[in-house]
Amino acid sequence: MKKGILIAFGEIFLKSENVKNIFLKRLIHNLDFFLNKNKIDFKIRSSRQRIFVETESSKAKRIIKNVFGIVWFSDCMYFEKTTLNSFSKYIHQNYPEWIEKNQTFAIKLKLENGIIKENKDKVIEKIASKIDRKVNLSKPNKTLFIEIRHNGWFVYFKKNKGAGGLPGSCSGKVLSLISGGIDSPVSSYLSAKRGAENIWIHFHSYPLVSNKSIEKVKEFAKIFIQYQPKIKIYFVPFQKAQIEIKAKVPANYRVLLYRRFMLKIAEKIALEEGCHALITGESLGQVSSQTLPNLEITEEAVKMPVLRPLIGMDKEEIIEIAKQISTFNISIKPQEDCCTLFVPKHQTGKGNLKKVKEYEKKLDISKLTRQIIKEAKKEKC
Ligand code: ATP
Ligand code: MG
Repeated sequence: MKKGILIAFGEIFLKSENVKNIFLKRLIHNLDFFLNKNKIDFKIRSSRQRIFVETESSKAKRIIKNVFGIVWFSDCMYFEKTTLNSFSKYIHQNYPEWIEKNQTFAIKLKLENGIIKENKDKVIEKIASKIDRKVNLSKPNKTLFIEIRHNGWFVYFKKNKGAGGLPGSCSGKVLSLISGGIDSPVSSYLSAKRGAENIWIHFHSYPLVSNKSIEKVKEFAKIFIQYQPKIKIYFVPFQKAQIEIKAKVPANYRVLLYRRFMLKIAEKIALEEGCHALITGESLGQVSSQTLPNLEITEEAVKMPVLRPLIGMDKEEIIEIAKQISTFNISIKPQEDCCTLFVPKHQTGKGNLKKVKEYEKKLDISKLTRQIIKEAKKEKC
């Protein structure tokens, strides 16, 4: 008998055979990466239905919990090859340890064809008949999950919810705009959950303001690499654009122009990086720059799709995920936002694209963009 963790992958099942193979390979690659990084002693055995991580390490589960593409995982006992007789014997010898005297139980069996001659009912009967506990099929205290598969025999008790989604990096690259706030790390996480490989871009006004927002983004990255093997971050000094906009654009339009400028710079970098979309943490109506008319104007600045994973979420829901993925406590640390110095009290909630374009004519956007990108610093985490 060997110990380890049994892993089930949900949505991958719905894919065609070809895509399924690619996704499965990616999932195994990611598991391998994260377990190795954490110096776990393990061996991976995979089949078309399950992955089994053979390990004695108690730390492995904590790592597997964060890996995208997994619906559930479970502590498991495993026999590579056995017979129904010796498998049943093993269960009969050990059940007193698993099911207390006053507890009820049920057996749930998955049996692949062509391994043994007995059918499902016979197997359950053979195992259950020598377990001296009461059966309760609707609300058992303990469920014995048994899987008899071509690549092994598995016994486990409790399915833990996995991170869900699709295996990391199987959907292509995106560039996520990360501020120091609550929303953007969550939006980046949700895109990564669906298989997007995230590169980050952060606009800052250091040294006009402190480097707190930069530090926060670095802290986010340390957390994020539990979910995505590596992350590249662009730190982009934005004050040149802000100073120019502040000098030439009326107060109530400045935020819109900052946003459009950020997207234009982001799009250039995204194209160089081979990204397919930009990701922001905007949520409909959250602030005046995120009204529908203003999102329309912001989006008009670029050709690349701008995806907003949080568009339909309330702040409470976003905070819940931020806490779950451990970015919340970093987000709420005080910082001077790159825009605080430059953000006016009243901004328009219903911008006019014609006016925006007129204001933009007063700025030398392409020259500024070139200068700003030149000054950007890249870091890998
Ligand atoms: P948070 O700051 O995470 O997102 P917010 O509610 O403060 O949320 P805004 O400041 O309106 O949102 O910004 C909307 C989105 O624009 C952010 O979610 C982020 O994607 C992007 N953004 C804003 N400021 C920056 C910045 N300094 N650097 C990179 N992206 C930014
Ligand atoms: Mg913000």
